[in-house]
Amino acid sequence: MNGSATPRLLHRTATIRLRLTRRQTRRCYRLLRSAGDVWAWLLDSNRQRRQQGEPAISNYQALCRELTRTGSFGELSVAGARSVLRRYSDAWFQAAKRRKAGLSASFPRRKCSLVPVRCYHGTFTIQGQRVRLRVARGQPELWVRLARPLPYPPEQVRAVTLLADGGRLWLAVTAAVPVEHHDLDPMRVAGVDLGIIHPYAAVAEDGGLLVSGRALRAESYLHLVDQQARQRKTAKRAPKPGQRGSRRWRRHRARLRRVEARHRRRVHQAQHQAAKQVVAFAAQQRVGTLVVGDPRGITDRDAGRVQNWRLRQWRRTHLLQALRDKAELAGIVVRLVDERGTSSTCPACHRRVAKPNGRRFRCPHCTFFGHRDLVGAANIAAKAGGGPTSTGVPVLVEHRRAGQVPARRDRRRHLHDARRRRSCPASGHPPDNPASGRCRSPRVPDLTPGEDHAASPNRADVA
Ligand SMILES: [Zn+2]
Repeated sequence: MNGSATPRLLHRTATIRLRLTRRQTRRCYRLLRSAGDVWAWLLDSNRQRRQQGEPAISNYQALCRELTRTGSFGELSVAGARSVLRRYSDAWFQAAKRRKAGLSASFPRRKCSLVPVRCYHGTFTIQGQRVRLRVARGQPELWVRLARPLPYPPEQVRAVTLLADGGRLWLAVTAAVPVEHHDLDPMRVAGVDLGIIHPYAAVAEDGGLLVSGRALRAESYLHLVDQQARQRKTAKRAPKPGQRGSRRWRRHRARLRRVEARHRRRVHQAQHQAAKQVVAFAAQQRVGTLVVGDPRGITDRDAGRVQNWRLRQWRRTHLLQALRDKAELAGIVVRLVDERGTSSTCPACHRRVAKPNGRRFRCPHCTFFGHRDLVGAANIAAKAGGGPTSTGVPVLVEHRRAGQVPARRDRRRHLHDARRRRSCPASGHPPDNPASGRCRSPRVPDLTPGEDHAASPNRADVA
C-alpha cells in the first residue's frame, strides 16, 4: 500500500431517517407507490409477453425503450422510473445467474405497493441536511430533511434511495469512501470469536478485546416479553381466516411492524458499533489480518428450544458482514477458518478439555485458566499462525460494550418488573392499587427456568 497512489474506493451505505412535513410525507409515499406501479407494470407486461409466446424483456436498455413508449407514472421522474427498471433487470439477471450455477432462485414476480426509488449522481442535490429529489417535469420541487447529519462528505455521495420501512420514510445514502491508511503489519494476525454472550472476542499478539453483548441480550429479551404480552392480549381479536380485519386490527398490525423494525434497528446499530470497536482495536494493534471462526452450520443440529431460538436471534451473518465491511475499509484482511474445537482446546498444552459451562475456562491437564471466549479467539488465531506470543491468552484485555442498556423508564421494563414483583416498578404504568404495588399487566410466563440466563438482563456476566 503506497501513500502516493490514489486510495481505493469502496461503496458504503447509511440509512438515515427523514424528518418531513405532512405534505412532503404524502408526496414521498406517492413516489414510492408510483414506483410500485412501474414494478407491477413490468411484471404484468412480461407475463403477457410470455403468454403470447414472446420472450420476456429483461435487458435494461430494452426496458427503458418500453418505458418511453408507455408514458409517465405520476410524479415519478424518468430517472426514478428507470431506477425501478434497473432494480428489476438486476434481480432478473441475478436469478438467471444463480439458476445457471445450479442454485435455486426465482425471477421477480411479486408485486409490492411501495418500491424504493433511487436517484443516481446528478439527479439529486444536497444542501446541508436537506436533499432535493428529482420528480417529474412540471411538478414542484421536492426537498426532504435528514434527521441526522450526513456521515459522508457530500461530494462523495453517489446515490440516494428513498424507501419506507416499518411505517417510516428513510433515505439510504450511498457514498464512495476511500480506504483509510493505517500502519498495519500483514504478518500480525488476530483471532476473532463470534458469540452470543460476547458478540466479538478478539485476541492479538499482546492484547485482547471483549465486547459485551449484555445490552443486546437485554433488548432482545424485553422485546420478546413485550411481543408475547401483546400477542396474548390481542389474540382473541384476530380476524378469522378469510375475514377482513377491522381498522383497529390494522392499526395493531402497523404498531407491531413498527416495534419489530425498531428492535431490528437497535440490534443492527449495536452490532455495527461492536464491529467498529474490533476494527479500531485491530488498527491500534497494527493487525493486518483478522481470522474469524466460521459460524456456518451451527443451526443445523437441534440444541433445544431455548438455545435454538437464541441461535436464530444471534444474527451471526450480520455480525460477520459488519466486521468484514469495516475491516475492508481499514485495509484489514478478513479470513474465515473452521472454528470446530476452538472453545474446547487448551491454548497452553493443546489438549482437549470439556466445554466449560460458564465463561471460565480451566484446563485439568495443566494449570491454565482464562476467559472462554478469549481462549476461543486465541485458538482461532493459532490456526492461522497468530495469537499471543506467550502461552495462553493475553493479560491485557480491553472490555467494551455494544449497544445501550434499555433505559430505566423503558415501557417494556414494566413487564419485566411485574414478573419479578419489584416493590418499585418502572414508571410508565402506575399500579392498579398503590397499596399492594402489583401491576395490571399479565404475568409473564418463564422461559425454561435456569436456561434463560443468556437472555436475562439482570444477571451478571462471569468475567
Ligand atoms: Zn492445558
